[in-house]
Amino acid sequence: MAKLSVIGTGYLGLTHAACMASLGHEVIALDVDTAKIQLISAGTVPFHEPGLPALVAHAIASRRLTFTTSWDDVAEQADIHFLCVGTPQSAYSEAADLSQVRGAIQSLAPLLTRPSLVVGKSTVPVGTAQWIADTLVAESPAGVDSHLVWNPEFLREGFAVEDTLHPDRIVLGVSHESDIDTLKDVYASPLGEGTPLIVSDYPTAELVKVAANAFLATKISFINAFADLCDATGANITTLADAIGYDTRIGRRFLNAGIGFGGGCLPKDIRALQARAAELGVAEQFDFLRAADDINLSRRTKVVELVKASLGGSLEGARVTVLGISFKPDSDDIRDSPALSIAAELSGNGAHVTVHDPEALHGVQARYPDLATAETVNAAVTDADIVLHLTEWKEYRTLNPAELKSLVKNPIIIDGRNVLDLDTWSNAGWTVSYLGKPGS
Ligand code: NAD
Repeated sequence: MAKLSVIGTGYLGLTHAACMASLGHEVIALDVDTAKIQLISAGTVPFHEPGLPALVAHAIASRRLTFTTSWDDVAEQADIHFLCVGTPQSAYSEAADLSQVRGAIQSLAPLLTRPSLVVGKSTVPVGTAQWIADTLVAESPAGVDSHLVWNPEFLREGFAVEDTLHPDRIVLGVSHESDIDTLKDVYASPLGEGTPLIVSDYPTAELVKVAANAFLATKISFINAFADLCDATGANITTLADAIGYDTRIGRRFLNAGIGFGGGCLPKDIRALQARAAELGVAEQFDFLRAADDINLSRRTKVVELVKASLGGSLEGARVTVLGISFKPDSDDIRDSPALSIAAELSGNGAHVTVHDPEALHGVQARYPDLATAETVNAAVTDADIVLHLTEWKEYRTLNPAELKSLVKNPIIIDGRNVLDLDTWSNAGWTVSYLGKPGS
């Protein structure tokens, strides 16, 4: 079994570390955030990810997973270093902020005194891998024996453990053939299940990740553009999506119209791709991503306008309840969450907004002090003038509309995810609105 390090213990890194330990590898995980390392070392996973707390607890108990803030520990104990730090959007432009990547490599490289392999998993602008490979050679004592493999990550929050243990493909961008076998040993378990392995150069491996995200973002905005056309004509976007989805060239997934995409990946990744394409002289070819981003952001304005119209034109003093604020169900990630953005916009326009979410309420009030939080759906909807269903947690699908009607002031609901059953809600006396299909 291999001796691995995982650098960065966020959504990606902690999941990767625990999964690699569960496959039998010896893993040391490092983060520069001392408080986070203390918390995780004590067995607390600082975010909601199904199955991860049990996996982390088991890995810690088996002593195959340890945590540190010491780069010396990492360099001493591991031969293969997985780079899992963040690459958020820059505060000054739409490009990726690579300071975490640079910081990690500059800390690690001078300590690589024996042949080592760094494996990049963060999502980066094409060209970054070559810079890291060159830096490792230039700045590590092991010099040309410090290698890099680019191994983009495709996990989905909410399914992160499953996706890491059973990925649908493994992509390796390499510059030394010998490194392929090293990674085949690390990933022996998923490869043994028949997971396709794609070996390429660095730029192809980097581009695979951003191409996948650009495609998915475009698919969502495509259906949302048609949702507006459906609203303008009385057509039904769900029926339309079902019908085109039967075409296997199109497929039904990622064709659910609604308030659009968010989270820590898709929005910043399509912006970083446009910025990088512009640097490389192919900006115009990626103008469609600007349109995809604009369509996506316009969903949020559209919901705010719909709320205003439903309340007779003014938000001032209106009591609005938002069900679901994470960017998607089964995650507590609120980075660039469309639901939270809508809640904040409504509040900024004078509404009293109460939010409910099964997992994502922690941290909301620190960042959005004007939003009230409620621990139960019943408390959240009490006396509401309007209810918004914005993140499709499973538990919201089984709400009892009759019971909720007895609690609200006005039985008006906007289903921003187009999943609540029209007959069930309207028969219970609710006025229901969707995005792209007729309501009641
Ligand atoms: P995150 O912000 O949750 O985690 C990043 C971690 O890196 C943080 O804990 C931070 O403290 C740590 N860090 C920062 N600088 C460091 C340094 N110099 N050395 C060591 N640790 C450092 O981010 P994330 O969501 O885990 O994403 C990480 C990367 O993976 C990003 O590039 C992202 O695009 C990519 N990715 C994320 C997902 C996902 O679903 N979250 C999926 C695929 C790919």
